Amino acid sequence: MRRKLAAGNWKMNGLTASLVEIEKLLETHPDPGCEMLICPPATLIAQVAWRCRNKHLKIGAQDCHWEAAGAHTGDISAPMLADAGASYVILGHSERRTDHEETDAEIAAKTEAAWAAGLTAIVCVGESERQRDLGTALPVVGGQLDTSLPAGCTGENLVVAYEPIWAIGTGRTPSPAEIAEMHDFMRAALVGRFGDAAKDIRLLYGGSVKPANAAEIFGISNVDGALVGGASLKAADFGAIIDALASA
Ligand code: PEP
Repeated sequence: MRRKLAAGNWKMNGLTASLVEIEKLLETHPDPGCEMLICPPATLIAQVAWRCRNKHLKIGAQDCHWEAAGAHTGDISAPMLADAGASYVILGHSERRTDHEETDAEIAAKTEAAWAAGLTAIVCVGESERQRDLGTALPVVGGQLDTSLPAGCTGENLVVAYEPIWAIGTGRTPSPAEIAEMHDFMRAALVGRFGDAAKDIRLLYGGSVKPANAAEIFGISNVDGALVGGASLKAADFGAIIDALASA
């Protein structure tokens, strides 16, 4: 049985004043009916973790280095994130693949580093608009899964987020049929490689999920939740998405 997951990615947004949104979420969703996770900027992880102690809100990070420590100015390692209170880390987000030229091999190494620190990795995959138009979305995502995921993936240590790049922050989403096709494809690919353990790996959809489209998306086969960007910044919007997931 896969536990549904609503994950919010705050990206490079959030100052101490934004913690009021966490307080609101905790107040309105003391027992959310699904797993809820916020990935704030690294600067806020420890403060959010402090506010969330003994509460049903998990904390995640947005990236980690593949080494545990060393001469990497400005980088943050997985043990540091765990020490600050994170239990998840997003890896291979398309913005990091683009802005920092992250490769699939680096993402696989980061995934292993996350596991070594006891973190669950949320590995992001997704095609560009051009690849979708060319009809290559499935093989592109299949290739990303093959090379971004190390051996040993299970439902305990891995979540996969399908985020078509052209849907992120654009207000556009794939059709339900396109999401279903991709999620069924990813499930089959994961089971083909990792066996029965992959039946428990949660598959999130990400890209312009809003309160208005959440219920339809959560009704789609093999969609176990969402990775939400912009709409996770306000407790009211993210709370509505959590409610839609809990009742899906
Ligand atoms: C994201 O960046 O992970 C994302 C899904 O963003 P948005 O919800 O804003 O499209």
